[in-house]
Amino acid sequence: MADHVVTLNAGSSSIKFGLFASKPNLPRPVASGQVDGIGADMWFKARHAEDASTTQRDLADMPRGDGHRAAIDVILGWIERSFPDARVAAIGHRVVHGGPDFAGPVLVTPDVLTCLGKLAPLAPLHQPHNLAGIAAATEAFPGVPQVACFDTAFHRGHCFVSDTFALPRRYYEKGIRRYGFHGLSYDYIARRMREIAPLEAAGRMVVAHLGNGASMCAIENGRSVASTMGLTALDGLPMGTRCGQIDPGVLLYLLQHERLPVDAVADLLYEESGLLGLSGVSQDMRELEQSDDPRCREAIDYFVRRIRHELGGFAVTLGGIDAVVFTAGIGEHSALVRAAVLDGLEWLGVVLDAEANARHDQIISTPASRLRVYVVPTDEEAMIADQTIDVAGLARISAAA
Ligand code: ADP
Repeated sequence: MADHVVTLNAGSSSIKFGLFASKPNLPRPVASGQVDGIGADMWFKARHAEDASTTQRDLADMPRGDGHRAAIDVILGWIERSFPDARVAAIGHRVVHGGPDFAGPVLVTPDVLTCLGKLAPLAPLHQPHNLAGIAAATEAFPGVPQVACFDTAFHRGHCFVSDTFALPRRYYEKGIRRYGFHGLSYDYIARRMREIAPLEAAGRMVVAHLGNGASMCAIENGRSVASTMGLTALDGLPMGTRCGQIDPGVLLYLLQHERLPVDAVADLLYEESGLLGLSGVSQDMRELEQSDDPRCREAIDYFVRRIRHELGGFAVTLGGIDAVVFTAGIGEHSALVRAAVLDGLEWLGVVLDAEANARHDQIISTPASRLRVYVVPTDEEAMIADQTIDVAGLARISAAA
């Protein structure tokens, strides 16, 4: 039986999974899928990578109370039946917050779990569910190494100035820092860029991860130098429903003068703001692009304005840029957003190739452009599998196998 790695990304009502075979470079995906509707009517779907065949199952008659454990049993049971020759040698978990202490992936132990549980207030929407996924997978596969892979770890090498807020120092010591997120995606893109464009990958890149959650990262020689996200995943760019950068005085105003309860402010900032809040129509970029409502255009304009603002800031921080990379749902698929972000940036050395952009080519700048602009699909699951293979000490099989 060949060693394989399972990746799990556990959210509040869904668990996404991947099954990977070990390879010398990035692991090879064998299957992927998810269970949705945890705590309600569950639904399973999966896809074989080799022939793109899919499986779907309605799990509505399963007991609801078992939550993540039931979902993980469904996933692991399907893997065992569908791939009888695959031995699950390790399980890699996406964990959104690693706090100040975890600068890389780690083997899960009871002490590690205690540390990660204390970070839940910093990522209330994700961390508790990530940890529930680890608990359920440990119960289901007690002898198998479980590895925690963090969204924050890629940014832990930041200098003090990139890592702090201008608050009294005691808060920095207490862990109130700019951690940054989407680190698994940026780590993957930095790796892919070493294959696609080694010169630029060794230089100064700005990567824009524009999905439902959105952030940007300044990368120098493969290392994160600065991120637009902060203590939580609220800061920086506006997102589907999150506000992004905001004057902290607004929060004081809402609390003191509008007398909003703290929970209502949290809902406002996490769930009702961003593209949805500005447009009043949708958080989905496809719908905003297609709408005639002027508020949708304004929401896109605000999104683009913030991206350009951060791009300019990172250009100065890095002392120049060699490549810009767009990734994630909007970055990979929205020619409109990419063109708007890069409009009029010839002074920065960017000349957009409009046709290549419309085709979503890998390179969307012209040969005359001093800095190159790339569209590179991200793959956070492959990164989790890769880190898990290393931490669990699994052998990498040869490229030919
Ligand atoms: P998540 O953060 O949930 O993983 P994704 O990376 O899947 O998010 O990105 C979701 C976003 O990508 C949504 O706003 C969606 O509208 C947008 N998107 C996906 N496909 C397209 C497209 N063809 N054109 C414009 N936007 C797109």
